Formats: sequence, C-alpha cells, structure tokens
Amino acid sequence: MKSDKKASGHEVMRRCVGCGVSKDKSGLVRIVKNKDGEIKFDLSGHAAGRGAYVCLDPECLKKAIERRGLERSFGCTVSDEARNSLREEFGKLDIR
Ligand SMILES: [Zn+2]
Repeated sequence: MKSDKKASGHEVMRRCVGCGVSKDKSGLVRIVKNKDGEIKFDLSGHAAGRGAYVCLDPECLKKAIERRGLERSFGCTVSDEARNSLREEFGKLDIR
C-alpha cells in the first residue's frame, strides 16, 4: 500500500517572494543578504544573514525583483548591480 501520508507540520514550507506560493524547500532557492549587505544565492541554504526564497524558475526571480518582494524581505533597496548579478547567477544554477 502506498498510503504513508506524512503528517503535515513537520516539513518546512517556504514562501516564494516572486509568485507567493508556499512550497517545500527543495523547490526553492535561497537568496541571502549577508552582513556586508551583499545579496546572493545561498545554495547551501545555511548562510548567515537574512534570507528570502524563490522558486527555481527565472520568472519568479524576475517577479521577486520587479515586484520588490526581495526588497521587502531584506528591508532594503536592491541595487541594479545586485539585481543583475542575481539574474546572471540564476542562469548558472543547475536547474531546469
Ligand atoms: Zn515562485
């Protein structure tokens, strides 16, 4: 029988700041603002700093930037430089 439904409440759900959908961490990538104020992807998921999550979808990153979801999450302005590097880095992530 394939009915071992796990009780919810154990898995950690995170909300994408792009589309606003909550999902399991595995479908998301963490973006972190470190103590130096740099905003970058945190592929380990454990980097220190304030984090935000987006789906592994370039559209969500775009929305997160354009709708200022990232800025709200980090409580600061995201510079053009940081946006560009996020977009660039996103392209290099091993996702489909
Ligand atoms: Zn999303």
